[in-house]
Amino acid sequence: METIFVKGGTGSSRILAGESLENLKSYIPPSGVFIITDSNVNRIYGKSFPGHPVFVTEPGESSKATETVLSACRWLLDKGAGRDSFILGIGGGIVCDIAGFTASVFMRGVRFGFVATTLLAQVDASVGGKNGVNLDGYKNIIGCFNQPDFVICDTEMLVSLPPEEIKNGLAEAVKHTLIDNRNMFKTIWDNAGEIKELKNTGVLNRLISHSVHVKAAIVNRDENEQGERRKLNLGHTWGHAIEKITGMPHGKAVSIGLVFAARLSEHKGLLKPRDRERLTELLVRLELPTASSTDPMQVLTALLKDKKREADHIHFVMIKSIGRVVVEAIPVRWLQDYVKQHKKDIPAF
Ligand code: ADP
Ligand code: ZN
Repeated sequence: METIFVKGGTGSSRILAGESLENLKSYIPPSGVFIITDSNVNRIYGKSFPGHPVFVTEPGESSKATETVLSACRWLLDKGAGRDSFILGIGGGIVCDIAGFTASVFMRGVRFGFVATTLLAQVDASVGGKNGVNLDGYKNIIGCFNQPDFVICDTEMLVSLPPEEIKNGLAEAVKHTLIDNRNMFKTIWDNAGEIKELKNTGVLNRLISHSVHVKAAIVNRDENEQGERRKLNLGHTWGHAIEKITGMPHGKAVSIGLVFAARLSEHKGLLKPRDRERLTELLVRLELPTASSTDPMQVLTALLKDKKREADHIHFVMIKSIGRVVVEAIPVRWLQDYVKQHKKDIPAF
């Protein structure tokens, strides 16, 4: 087990990589605890939860809504929760978002913690103190920055996840190696098969710790996405647009976005072709997609509609080498020209 500290302006948090659900009791108060989970997680792990009241949401993005937060607040009131209560989210990124936001607004904020049960939540979503829900189809419109007391990352709980969910998390883990390698790129390369199949708990725990370290280091320097935190958007500008158009799972879209970022970086002379090839090969080894059959011009149109557009420039995270990225303001014109000129190559990665 490894403890990684996150210090945001809104408080600090401990990420417990490799901790077990069994030890949860030592992190929460003995009473006044209210659990928020979803029906899948409740069905599989509910019997191992500590004996506190449980609020069960429907799985899926549609639960990430103000209506769910209101229902949870009504439920908390009904159950006699107060200012000194503790909210425990047990689930993936969606449950953590709902639980974290509910805890942040209920009676102006109560303490909270997470048991992150998906790889995506363990390597990404539950770290960093972002909590929020969607509004009218727009993602994370209502939310706040607020750090949970702790996040437990129990790799044993990942065995019940569908393989597709594992891949979602792996794309973000690869993203973290591109931001700060610490030899993890090679570790994933050498152990791709075992990682995919969750066969090597030791390597899996190292992968989770690595991701948490990279993300925590960035959040510690910049909680609010002004400068440094933008690096975490690597692969997401193009990836989000693909996700929006195709409805593809987040991690897969990010994987394609990473390859696009690598291509663009290579085109600008920042990244060696060999490193772009190694990245693509690693994603293939993890059975992640590196190409999309969507028309790149359509992706570009969706991208430009995205909230990340700043006037006539877009902040785009470029890769300099495996382990080094740089945020560049790219003129929209330049990007349009690039995609127009290379649209034949882009789907054929
Ligand atoms: P994320 O955003 O982290 O992918 P979600 O909260 O959307 O997470 O969870 C993805 C799906 O996986 C949901 O249907 C959820 O109920 C389910 N799920 C979460 N954790 C587990 C687990 N440990 N085992 C099986 N299914 C899980
Ligand atoms: Zn992401």
